[in-house]
Amino acid sequence: MAPDIADPVVPVGNADGSCQSTRQRVPAAHDDNNNQIEKESAIEASHEDQFRPEIRWPDFIAQLFLHVGFLIGIWQVVTLQAKLYTVLWTVILVWCSGVGITAGAHRLWSHKSYKAKWPLRVLLMFLFTICGQRDAYTWAHDHRVHHKYSETDADPHNAKRGFFFAHVGWVFLTPHPEVVAKRKIIDMSDLEADPIVMWQKKYYLPLFALLVIGFPVLVPYYYWSENIWVAFWVCFTVRFTTTLNIAFFVNSVAHMFGNRPYDKNISPVENLPVAIAALGEGWHNYHHVFPWDYKTGELGSYMFNVTTGFIDAFAKLGWAYERKSVSPDIIERRAAKYGDGTRFLSDDCAHQDPVWGFGDSDIAKEDLDEILRRQE
Ligand SMILES: [Zn+2]
Ligand SMILES: [Zn+2]
Repeated sequence: MAPDIADPVVPVGNADGSCQSTRQRVPAAHDDNNNQIEKESAIEASHEDQFRPEIRWPDFIAQLFLHVGFLIGIWQVVTLQAKLYTVLWTVILVWCSGVGITAGAHRLWSHKSYKAKWPLRVLLMFLFTICGQRDAYTWAHDHRVHHKYSETDADPHNAKRGFFFAHVGWVFLTPHPEVVAKRKIIDMSDLEADPIVMWQKKYYLPLFALLVIGFPVLVPYYYWSENIWVAFWVCFTVRFTTTLNIAFFVNSVAHMFGNRPYDKNISPVENLPVAIAALGEGWHNYHHVFPWDYKTGELGSYMFNVTTGFIDAFAKLGWAYERKSVSPDIIERRAAKYGDGTRFLSDDCAHQDPVWGFGDSDIAKEDLDEILRRQE
């Protein structure tokens, strides 16, 4: 019997001189590697076994409060207890402060997809803080980890753990040890050097009280004499929870339901409703393939990508500059090669790589050499 490479054996004589059925393993160099891999797998498996996320009760109670408060506020709106101006104020706040997330925390601070002069950075930080989604440094930190280790244990809102976890569960469950480990190695030096980012981080609690609760609630109370509790439930909880869930949809829905025109092997998808709600952040398959593109999508229309319109407007003023993007040629080739075919069914580019058979002049030189070498 020939020793097989994966499990080398030699026949060994028995004491009675027979030569049957005794197999003795011969140590081989690659055994060390195999042992190492086995050990690592065992450690990984034991980590898997050991890791049971726990509920972080303060975060859980905060989410519960916000979502119950959302229902109370919506009830006040539909029963006409809230004044029309209060509803309009809430819609305007959701709309405008959302740009602080998309153009600020996301495209500027997480991805460095463009640069902004300090007046624009201050404006974006003001708008972002109103949303109440933690400080920009922490937001961008987790978002960089999400992109770098997407769909693994190290992804803070790993969509492979299901819709609920990717949507909101990750906010109130203890993070996987891999998330904690990878957070430590992501480079954040650029944000640490940004005084506006670090100032907001340092004073986040008073800023939260002032801009997430105080400002949205007191404006209707003082300017059109809204009842303070109506202002609280509508302008704080309904507004906060709406913006929060739109952002959550990018992590859940836009990682599950839609097409994958640019890379069919990753989970992020293109999702129009999310793009509309999230001011242009629903083109998530594109965004994960080209995260440095300030447009976070290929579509040229501002209608489905309001944030791009916002950045372009400030570029005209000179406050936004060095906007990074991807050439149409690279996008086309990427989509043709790795996409799910939903983008280029009729495009010439989709048909560049295929050949009709041996003899097609489009066969790559190295493929042709290999075919000729192997023919028999
Ligand atoms: Zn991103
Ligand atoms: Zn994502």
